[in-house]
Amino acid sequence: MKIHLPTYPQGIHEIVESLEPNALELDSNIFRENIRVVLTLDRHDPYLEVRFHLQTWTHHECDRCLTEFRAELNARSPMLYVLGTGAKVPTMDDADIIYIPAGTTDLDVSDELRDFLILALPGKWLCSEDCRGICPGCGADLNRQPCSCNLS
Ligand SMILES: [Zn+2]
Ligand SMILES: [Zn+2]
Repeated sequence: MKIHLPTYPQGIHEIVESLEPNALELDSNIFRENIRVVLTLDRHDPYLEVRFHLQTWTHHECDRCLTEFRAELNARSPMLYVLGTGAKVPTMDDADIIYIPAGTTDLDVSDELRDFLILALPGKWLCSEDCRGICPGCGADLNRQPCSCNLS
């Protein structure tokens, strides 16, 4: 995704886009649905303060019962882009800073979007907090049926 900077004069702008997962080279097993991108650009050269909000649905197999499920993913992150070098950097809470060449017309934020989404993925996938999983003895899905071997 590129932000065409000449379109946005000094001031605050909201930019909304819907991206296909393959536009960001994301894992197509997990990311199967479009990603809604809402970003707020506060431009006051040489600073471009950008707050990203990304929303999509991801697809997974439950770690416990192996059922496929879908989960909403939201990622929010600020970035500070600085046009040219040598500018003093203002403080913006928790924002990462990226220097871009003065005179840049198209600011490509694809790498940032991909990183935000991947960082927002949790380490564990459960179809629900209290998923009972599969019995190691009889293989019964304990969410759907009782165990027949009394192992659980
Ligand atoms: Zn489960
Ligand atoms: Zn069992």
